[in-house]
Amino acid sequence: MSATDVLARLNAFLDNTSPRLAGMFYRKWGDMRDSITYAELAEAIRQGEISKQQVEQWRQDYSSFIATKYAPLVRQGIADTAKATLARYGGKLFDPMSNAMERFITERGAFLAKEITLAQRDAINMLVRQAALTDTMTVDELARAIRPCIGLTKQQAQAAYNYYEQRRMDYYKQYVESGMSEKAAATKAAKEALARQATYESKLHRRRAASIAETELAFAYNNGMEEVIRGGIREGLFPSYVRRKWSTSLDERVCPKCGALDGVIVGMDDNFPGGIPLPPAHPGCRCAVEYLFGLDPQEETPKIDVPIREDGHFDTDYLYGNDVKYALKEQRVDATMKLIGADEKEAREMVNAINDFSKDDYKKIRQAQDENLQNEYRAKADLIEKYIDLAPNWEGGALYRGIPNNPNYAVGEVVDMKGVSSWSSLRSVADKFSRMDGFVFKVESAKKGTSINHLSLYMNQENEVICSALNQYKVTNIYIDEKARRTIIELTEL
Ligand SMILES: [Zn+2]
Repeated sequence: MSATDVLARLNAFLDNTSPRLAGMFYRKWGDMRDSITYAELAEAIRQGEISKQQVEQWRQDYSSFIATKYAPLVRQGIADTAKATLARYGGKLFDPMSNAMERFITERGAFLAKEITLAQRDAINMLVRQAALTDTMTVDELARAIRPCIGLTKQQAQAAYNYYEQRRMDYYKQYVESGMSEKAAATKAAKEALARQATYESKLHRRRAASIAETELAFAYNNGMEEVIRGGIREGLFPSYVRRKWSTSLDERVCPKCGALDGVIVGMDDNFPGGIPLPPAHPGCRCAVEYLFGLDPQEETPKIDVPIREDGHFDTDYLYGNDVKYALKEQRVDATMKLIGADEKEAREMVNAINDFSKDDYKKIRQAQDENLQNEYRAKADLIEKYIDLAPNWEGGALYRGIPNNPNYAVGEVVDMKGVSSWSSLRSVADKFSRMDGFVFKVESAKKGTSINHLSLYMNQENEVICSALNQYKVTNIYIDEKARRTIIELTEL
């Protein structure tokens, strides 16, 4: 299925189903408003909060609403979608409503019931506490102003209450100026303000109902699709190597917030950038996932000649497209498969090891090699060494490596770097790592090692080249660069 098909299907599902669910929420809130009495709200104002029994009652109401209204609708919608998806792929039909999907509906439903109960408690308590500080209205009037806010978010409830309060004060002023007694003006103003507020809160309720329905259904749809795909993989219906591509909405309801995610590809077990497992990324998000059925992970990608730029590093535009500043992990795995002719699993392990080396595990990986330890860091070191061995050799000329402390080398001495070493084709980068009065190794015509500029998090900034722990060098010259305040140690590869 193309991205357009996937998005069209999600849109059709939301357009067909979400007005029904929104209507259910809207009616539910009407029932909840009717079931709490003004006397109960007046008591809450005196107590400073809504009673525990009332909150428990709301929780039970929402739970049964979720079980009897929300769950059947979601279940039916997902089942229809799953059938259509499978029919489209022409595969055999397994039971689309797997246990995992049922579990999702139950868990998400319970979460939702709890969330909206607590939001409701907080919103109403906020108004109840404000009401206790007001001395221009009777407790009964306050209760009447608060009750319509049941079902609104805190922010909406505040807006609806403020709306009421503003109208009430305006009317009161108007009536008193027109000669009405203060008492009569207050009663009439409260009544009219309440009538005006009813229209306003009804609009807010509809808006919130639509938002919850759309978001929850998008959530259910995307999780349902995911479960269908995972089920299909388990049943051998789809190849086991599947990747997920984020697709933002296709029509005028384009999702502007998710623009940066559009087209991003991740593995089945990886999150999208920002730690997002699946759409929706936010309320109102109409994004979907396109599943890409790819290569057999056991199959090696043939090694290809990746063009090399003038500065000696692999052409990142060729590997990742023009002007990409940061390649995603899936793209780096792909690039590694092409560069060394590896299968997907091995390439992924190498990319992970190299990432760890250039981030947190630099010291531990080198120490494991230097001290010949047998631990997880040694395993990473071995993967990096294998990568260096298989990847094309560095052909870009001089390399630099900066260290802050004096290695105490003498001219003529044969040395190694005590582990996988990190170099740069830029002297400025080595200067940065050596710090003021530090030491910079320079190898004029380096041929050992391989560029990881295209794999690094600092792509096209550090111009990094890594070299094997086995490399040996002869010290040919040592001198001080007065201007840069660095000691330069010239080496040749042996
Ligand atoms: Zn979105």
